[in-house]
Amino acid sequence: MISDGEMSERQDIEFLNLRESNRMVEDALTAAAESVIRSGRYLGGEQTAAFEKELAISCGTAHTVGVSNGLDAIRLILRAYIELGRIRPGDGILIPANTYIASVLPATEFGLRPVLAEPDPATFGIDWQKALEILDSGKAGKISALMTVHLYGNPSWDSRIAAEMRSRGLLIIEDNAQAIGAAVEDSTDSDDNPVWRPTGGLGDAAAFSFYPTKNIGALGDAGAVACCDPELAATVRALANYGSDRRYHNIYRGYNCRLDEIQAAFLRVQLSRLEAIGRERRVMAAAYSRSISHPDVILPRKLPATRQVWHQYPILSPRRDELRNWLATNGIATDIHYAVPPHLQPCYKDLPHGPLPLTEKISNEIISLPIANADMSVVERVAEAINSFPLT
Ligand SMILES: *Cc1c(COP(=O)(O)O)cnc(C)c1O
Repeated sequence: MISDGEMSERQDIEFLNLRESNRMVEDALTAAAESVIRSGRYLGGEQTAAFEKELAISCGTAHTVGVSNGLDAIRLILRAYIELGRIRPGDGILIPANTYIASVLPATEFGLRPVLAEPDPATFGIDWQKALEILDSGKAGKISALMTVHLYGNPSWDSRIAAEMRSRGLLIIEDNAQAIGAAVEDSTDSDDNPVWRPTGGLGDAAAFSFYPTKNIGALGDAGAVACCDPELAATVRALANYGSDRRYHNIYRGYNCRLDEIQAAFLRVQLSRLEAIGRERRVMAAAYSRSISHPDVILPRKLPATRQVWHQYPILSPRRDELRNWLATNGIATDIHYAVPPHLQPCYKDLPHGPLPLTEKISNEIISLPIANADMSVVERVAEAINSFPLT
């Protein structure tokens, strides 16, 4: 029997607490801020340059450009491809229907046609086979790119279909906002050891977000573009700086999408724990997957030979709202990513699309469990609460 006194001592479980997340690096963050303050250089300095180098190493690309946020990273990639003539206004771009709206907004901003494809239930990312079928059917008109979103930190990648699409001239763009540190096993080396390729370095270009809640978070807004094409990198860099390739010389009608030095300095601290964050989250996710067992709950999956970084730990339940209430009653906060898919948002009421029943079902059934600050005792309590969710 648990007495009332003991019950009230059980602390509520928060969904996410950034102060807690950053406590271990508080001193390093403070030192980073001080060094930037004292440097007198607040944009385009050595912190940004160093961060760009470190990020390029971590995702295995030749070039990275630090930018203002993840949405701008996607905007800059699409605008740069338009400037380079690789994508034309009016072209179709395959995008998973089951994504955050930031994956879609840049396409419509530039007059591209989002061609929304249903998700693969194993990843919640785009169903590559269905995307290929849409391309093959020719019904969606000219399609010049596919954007894959590694949702929840789960790699959404099909090497064979990506290669096939590239051979037909499509650009493969990664929305890697949620998956920094994730990877796919691509091949084996001469000793038959697996070779892992990080997400963000799989396609032609990738967008990163360092929104504070992401696995690697700034203390404010920040993002990056990664690619191996020097021309694309130079175009993105120019567009992000008023479209100027050198001082007072504007080759594009650009933007101001620069990364702050202070955020770059913070991000260097955060990036140093990339592996540790991924490892910790994998341990917690594995514990969730081992301990949760309920007939009304479906656990997340992943494709074979992929390394997940569990930005979210999402479960599905046809009794979603009831289950969330049950967990809340047990002092456990959860969240929904995402309750309304882009095509059902008021701003996209005129967006053409086919039936998307799977996307809509996911949006009605998905729940994110606490993982960012979770330890084993949190996992145990959450699993216990879910397992005791009364059957109807
Ligand atoms: C967070 C996020 C973005 C946008 O990043 P911001 O830095 O918030 O602009 C884009 N796509 C996905 C999938 C995201 O999760």
